[in-house]
Amino acid sequence: MSTFPKCKHGIGDANNLTECKECQLDDLQAELDKLKASHDRQEEALRKIDNWAKAYPLEVFPEPDFKKVAEVLKAAGISLDAVSASNMRHVIKGVKGIAEQALKEAEKIGE
Ligand SMILES: [Zn+2]
Repeated sequence: MSTFPKCKHGIGDANNLTECKECQLDDLQAELDKLKASHDRQEEALRKIDNWAKAYPLEVFPEPDFKKVAEVLKAAGISLDAVSASNMRHVIKGVKGIAEQALKEAEKIGE
């Protein structure tokens, strides 16, 4: 009879957990829990982005007459392209922040 220390299930070698099916299941469950937590975090980030995308409904904020907007801005020495680019930078920076935070947290869960 061998004298190696047994796993917590008393089945396999504590130093070689692949001998015990229960230990293998525990490992898989732990991995599954991590993946679920990581998935939940990423889903939460997508939900934040989705909510943000819904924050400016057309019923509340109808599309402006861009021709008129461009004329007014041009009269003030501002280009519509510059304003549009600034808005896009703001939005993509916000999305980037949400994505970076979620990825950082998901990475931590995976460690
Ligand atoms: Zn075991």
